[in-house]
Amino acid sequence: MNTDLIIQLAYYTAAILFILGLKRMSSPKTATSGVKLAGVGMLIAIAATFFFPAMHNLLLILLAILIGTIIAWLGAKKVAMTGMPEMIAMYNGMGGGAAAAIAAIELFSLLANSDAKMPITTFALAVIGALIGSISFTGSILAFFKLRDWLKNVYFPWQQVINLAVLAFAITFGVIFYFHHTLPIFILFFATSLLYGALMTMSIGGADMPVVISLYNAFTGLAVACEGFVINNVAMIIAGTIVGAAGTLLTILMAKAMNRSLMNVLFVRFDGSKCCGTVSGTTKSMEIPDAAIMLNYVTKVIFVPGYGMAVAQAQQKVWELANLLLEKGIDVKFAIHPVAGRMPGHMNVLLAEAGVPYDYISDMDEINDDFQNTDIVIVIGANDVVNPAAKTDKTSPIYGMPILNVDQAKQIFVIKRGKGRGYAGIENLLFFNKNCHMVYGDAKQVVAHMIQTLKEQK
Ligand code: NDP
Repeated sequence: MNTDLIIQLAYYTAAILFILGLKRMSSPKTATSGVKLAGVGMLIAIAATFFFPAMHNLLLILLAILIGTIIAWLGAKKVAMTGMPEMIAMYNGMGGGAAAAIAAIELFSLLANSDAKMPITTFALAVIGALIGSISFTGSILAFFKLRDWLKNVYFPWQQVINLAVLAFAITFGVIFYFHHTLPIFILFFATSLLYGALMTMSIGGADMPVVISLYNAFTGLAVACEGFVINNVAMIIAGTIVGAAGTLLTILMAKAMNRSLMNVLFVRFDGSKCCGTVSGTTKSMEIPDAAIMLNYVTKVIFVPGYGMAVAQAQQKVWELANLLLEKGIDVKFAIHPVAGRMPGHMNVLLAEAGVPYDYISDMDEINDDFQNTDIVIVIGANDVVNPAAKTDKTSPIYGMPILNVDQAKQIFVIKRGKGRGYAGIENLLFFNKNCHMVYGDAKQVVAHMIQTLKEQK
């Protein structure tokens, strides 16, 4: 068998494993095996690359793989569940940057060798991939800084016009480069493309970040697919297309879950500090043992987990409390909002980790009508996803985002540490409802205390 055939077979095998892996990732039950399958596919694709006859600089490549593996391995081992979105943003950026780097090498070869020719379609794909990959690279890095809270939103006059002008310059330099292979044009093309990624992300914030991260994911996939065509690499074309398509679908679903159009997310300024009607009334707090005792007199309880549960790592304790209620014959459910936490599926992952069976977990659409018939809803570190301002306050930045109808329950306990706001940085009207009580403290400690109280009563 010749080497080319072996390489192509390996690439198709890798592509099949990527597809099967992705399919399995769609359910929490099979997700772990899906990740492993896709990982094996990637290993096969990397190994096949070494069989290319023209491959050289093997030592440098192996060194790069070694350094990358060590950093990724240690990073993934160390990262807390709450740091996952930042890590995803960073890896996304690296993928986009790698695609742009491939394009840079291909385009630079036109500069370095005046006899080199590139068909116009290949050139166009190289430039499009370079543009999208560069945007994803700087955009994702900025998203990383924002998620880490190292960077605030940046606004300046004529922002959208300036942003669009920079994008128009990037496209123009890309086109000019086809006719004039000169170093200044090459540099200007990449500089404006990278700058646009940063500018685009600067003003996006608040609750819109999940949509943007997902969009950059799609961008990285598309950039990789484009460069796959340029260097004629089947594995890159298939993997890039899969990531591009999955990322695009996820972006649409996330935007839909927040009732926002993509244009609105990208171009409408989000500023939590300059919004929202005044809130009248006061919040009421309740002591932990009192809240626990009330659980003895109910028939139906819904738990609503949010980002705070992830911070506190309270999922095991919450499931322990749910089990105590189940033993008492109480009907227990967990309600999950699509953007609860800091990444898609964040709450599903935590609850699965704690061993909560899937039958107890419901999506927002499934459970939203049940709240009105629920005796007590226990909100654990959730805030934006239960804020009724999304339904009632037209000036609110989250107005229009579907929320969990927690406010309709007979009684609500909100477990949080203090007066901290949610990701969108706005006041939560729910906390001022007459049927709502704040149970202050770290989620894990509060739930542990509730469990202790219930057990002592037995
Ligand atoms: P929020 O970010 O709205 O609120 C979290 C709440 O948890 C805070 O009000 C905080 O209050 C409380 N909290 C923090 N630590 C603890 C702790 N140890 N114990 C108890 N409570 C704690 O969370 P939601 O899940 O409701 O909403 C998610 C938000 O994040 C949405 O706005 C969404 O758009 C955004 N987002 C989602 C992403 C995704 O893909 N899912 C990605 C990026 C952003 P206090 O400080 O008082 O304790």
